[in-house]
Amino acid sequence: MKSQFVTNNYGRFDLTFDRGEGCYLYDESGKAYLDFAAGIAVNSLGHCHPAMVETIIDQANRLWHISNLYWNSNQNKLAEMLVNLSGLSKVSFSNSGTEANETALKIARKHGFMVSPGKKNKIVYMRESFHGRTMGALSVTGQEKYREKFRPLPEGVVEAEFNDLDSVARVMDENVCGIIVEPIQGESGILPATKEFLQGLKDLCLKFNALLIFDEVQCGIGRTGEVFAFQDYGVQPDVLSLAKGLAAGFPIGATVVGPRAENIFEPGDHGCTFGGNPLACACSLTVLSIVSTQETLASVKKNGEYLLSRLNSLGEKYSTIELVRGQGLIVGIKMKEAPATIISQCIEEGLLLVGAGGNVIRMVPPLTVSWEEIDQALEIFEKVLKKN
Ligand SMILES: *Cc1c(COP(=O)(O)O)cnc(C)c1O
Repeated sequence: MKSQFVTNNYGRFDLTFDRGEGCYLYDESGKAYLDFAAGIAVNSLGHCHPAMVETIIDQANRLWHISNLYWNSNQNKLAEMLVNLSGLSKVSFSNSGTEANETALKIARKHGFMVSPGKKNKIVYMRESFHGRTMGALSVTGQEKYREKFRPLPEGVVEAEFNDLDSVARVMDENVCGIIVEPIQGESGILPATKEFLQGLKDLCLKFNALLIFDEVQCGIGRTGEVFAFQDYGVQPDVLSLAKGLAAGFPIGATVVGPRAENIFEPGDHGCTFGGNPLACACSLTVLSIVSTQETLASVKKNGEYLLSRLNSLGEKYSTIELVRGQGLIVGIKMKEAPATIISQCIEEGLLLVGAGGNVIRMVPPLTVSWEEIDQALEIFEKVLKKN
């Protein structure tokens, strides 16, 4: 139900959800929806996963928030787990993807400041990227529709072309302190980087003493069938931004840094009041303990391949589909025309999907989705394709 008391910055569907269970959401009338949007790639364990419910209740009875003036063992354990899983070395916590990226950008700028203050401060970002809505994150988001009304934005940023290493090489020099890139561009339409591109960025960063930042806010935490998308590529970043799926629906952000970036922050350089609170970290510990198992990752890979192959068959059958691409359970279906009608009709039929740039429909179901649920979703999707 629409509210006049909420600011008008979203184009929302006229749907009000009341409860969720597994891959299903239920509206106020009790109608069920298969959730292949998952709160925009957030509900990695579906809705109200029993382990998450138990974690939240237990932690709610123990401790929620103490600030970062003190230590809490959940934050320490989560940092250690992220370090062990990523092979990087330290973690800075926040509450969202945009904050995780702000932290990453500040680490890059501080790195430049330590090497050559006032000079080494350029950050390179990619066209069609999406890194969040705060002023800093917007300054490196290469899509004018998000930025044009909010200038002036922070300076010292340079745009290059995604998957075009020459375009990056042309803007590189000793004054670049960082490069930020999504291994799979999400909002602009599920566009995977090539391995050569990411490896080339890494080489340029080493050559010019810059930090390589991977924004895995959307594609990380098991989505691709590895815990982190960079593990599919075999290219390790210096700084890694995480959020969305990290606590499966509880707000959290994390910026993980490797050896070249681990000694940059000092007390006073950065802070986040809620960052790394015991409740958020408890949720994330439970998520990672489930998502990082071979069982979950293998199931994401297997189900992802199944989803992709079924969608490719639909692509051969229906000319409205231009192409299908993705990795694991982050899949984009590029349509020949704007997909708003198809998405609305799917919702009416009980299937939630998300749009993305470039006429793309996203399927980002919970990582716990079953083969049968994929079949159900595709049955609805095909029924709608037939009508269009
Ligand atoms: C969603 C997203 C963000 C922003 O995350 P918020 O939690 O909305 O601030 C940043 N980067 C990428 C790649 C995203 O998909």
